[in-house]
Amino acid sequence: RVAPVALEDVTPGSDSLYVLAFRDVSELRRIERMRSDFVANASHELRTPLASLRGFIETLQGPARSDPLAHERFLGIMFDQATRMSRLVDDLLSLSRLELKAHIAPDQTVDLKPLIGHVRDTLLPLAEELGVEIRTHLPDAKVEVLGDRDELVQVFENLIENACKYGQEGKVVDVFVRSEPSQPVEVSVVDCGPGIPAEHVPRLTERFYRVSVADSRSKKGTGLGLAIVKHILTRHRARLIVKSEVGKGTAFTVRF
Ligand code: ADP
Repeated sequence: RVAPVALEDVTPGSDSLYVLAFRDVSELRRIERMRSDFVANASHELRTPLASLRGFIETLQGPARSDPLAHERFLGIMFDQATRMSRLVDDLLSLSRLELKAHIAPDQTVDLKPLIGHVRDTLLPLAEELGVEIRTHLPDAKVEVLGDRDELVQVFENLIENACKYGQEGKVVDVFVRSEPSQPVEVSVVDCGPGIPAEHVPRLTERFYRVSVADSRSKKGTGLGLAIVKHILTRHRARLIVKSEVGKGTAFTVRF
């Protein structure tokens, strides 16, 4: 913004003070655009299941009013749609809370061994449903990092759940916790799934980014999981390293 003053009005030695201020607004514009894209995406993601719910309700009130089979089937679909919306709202809330505390470093001492065990236990029913075995490989000693326990649970739940969902049925998901003297602590989640083509890897942590259309139709998810993971890890000053080979599998490593 330029102060509304003509340069010839600035008389040296006069007691008026003029300020000429220039500010590059391109970064602000970029953030503004990202924000409005985000709102548009979030609204779209909520609108789709809502429209479908309305459609089913109308059908149940009208043509299918006295058809018990249709009732059962449609109510099942409506339940799934409502669950999807709850998940989406939970993820949106998580992201907005994380944004609020982005500048505060977490300071609890967290032992990663019981934490990974807890995440594995939580995901056992899903793994069983998908025909995947989760194997953990933990060192004998404690593996302590500075962090926020609940947020780290969220990180590893997301990574291990993804490995189960996008990995191959009947295969194993390996979780390695490494803690060597004078080396950074690392946790790797490795699957034997179809892998991720290289051009998608840099975009995985963008909000609502999903690799294939088939994923968005068949696999339950919001496309926000890895965006949440990235926010949490940034707050923890930890890195997410993705190594993937198409046809072989994917390894997501968190390096503290
Ligand atoms: P979603 O809710 O879709 O799982 P995420 O942000 O967790 O969202 O993941 C984004 C996308 O990255 C997924 O839709 C999927 O296409 C891809 N992806 C994530 N993890 C894996 C994996 N282990 N193997 C293959 N693709 C993956």
